[in-house]
Amino acid sequence: TEEKITVLVPGGMHPRVLKRLGEAFDLIQTRAGSEMELSEEQRGRIRAVATGNQMPADWIDQLPNLELIANFGVGYDGVDAKHAASRGILVTNTPDVLNDEVADTTIGLLLNTIRRFPVAETYLREGRWEKEGSFPLTPLSLKNRHVGLLGLGRIGLEIAKRLEPFKVKISYHTRSPRNDVAYTYVPSLLELAKSVDTLISIIPATPQTHKIINSQVLQALGPSGVFINVGRGTSVDEDDLLEALKSGTIAAAGLDVFYDEPRVPAGFFDLPNLCMLPHVASASVPTRDDMADLVVDNIIDWFKTGRVLTPVPETPPK
Ligand code: NDP
Repeated sequence: TEEKITVLVPGGMHPRVLKRLGEAFDLIQTRAGSEMELSEEQRGRIRAVATGNQMPADWIDQLPNLELIANFGVGYDGVDAKHAASRGILVTNTPDVLNDEVADTTIGLLLNTIRRFPVAETYLREGRWEKEGSFPLTPLSLKNRHVGLLGLGRIGLEIAKRLEPFKVKISYHTRSPRNDVAYTYVPSLLELAKSVDTLISIIPATPQTHKIINSQVLQALGPSGVFINVGRGTSVDEDDLLEALKSGTIAAAGLDVFYDEPRVPAGFFDLPNLCMLPHVASASVPTRDDMADLVVDNIIDWFKTGRVLTPVPETPPK
């Protein structure tokens, strides 16, 4: 009988990935906190890894026969893809299958932040409508806003398309302008923040995007400004954001992502003008199932055909 290929799943993973990998491969699953506690023999036979965005260089180097790292998620900042590439190891992610879900969530978060719907529902549930009367009018409205997108990639474009029927103005900043859209391109983040009153961040975590949303950018956004982050928390200086929300430098913010998840800065909990979600932008059963299938299909295709479906740009060409 032919020996099965060994795949490592370090730490937690979506059950559908575990089920499907278990059917086709010899699966080694380790626990969070002791992800790389493996025998010499196990290290030697592992040829692929399925991970939820955690595969640093020193883990990669412990696996001499590794060929492929399949990441669950489109953001793969926790996987050292450059180091993997230098060793000829492929990295795949899960682009596109989550675009619609994340864009839908962004619109929901934007409206919740501006119109305070979660706060209004709490008001009703606490019996305050009957006792105290109508919920206070929201000072902010989406009407007549000018939205600036920081990032206009796969997900950013879906957000922009959804914003069009809301009749807002749309501008964007990326390093290179797209030639297939009519939205206004702004060549710097600071210029974008100056020209809009609503900023939506949907960029990856990279050294270049680290804490680029700072006090200067928030000041430029101004006192009626709304900041929404569905990209990565590392793009934001959270001390600066806390201060800006407290002092009225901007009006409100909505966050799905944080700098050091799942830790949320203590000061955030006291801010009435901050709407927060626990990183759920893609977190529906159907979308996570699609992401799970893409993780598994990349691994299966690699060993069947020598090709993968969705390699990241760092991955070496075959
Ligand atoms: P894409 O790679 O398709 O798009 C990334 C966009 O960011 C591009 O428009 C790119 O343009 C821009 N960008 C990258 N670096 C910079 C920079 N330094 N300055 C300005 N713009 C920059 O990615 P996706 O749209 O698929 O996903 C974006 C990110 O969203 C993911 O990397 C992930 O971290 C996050 N995400 C969060 C989710 C959540 O649950 N909250 C779910 C899914 C994704 P250019 O290269 O021209 O600069």
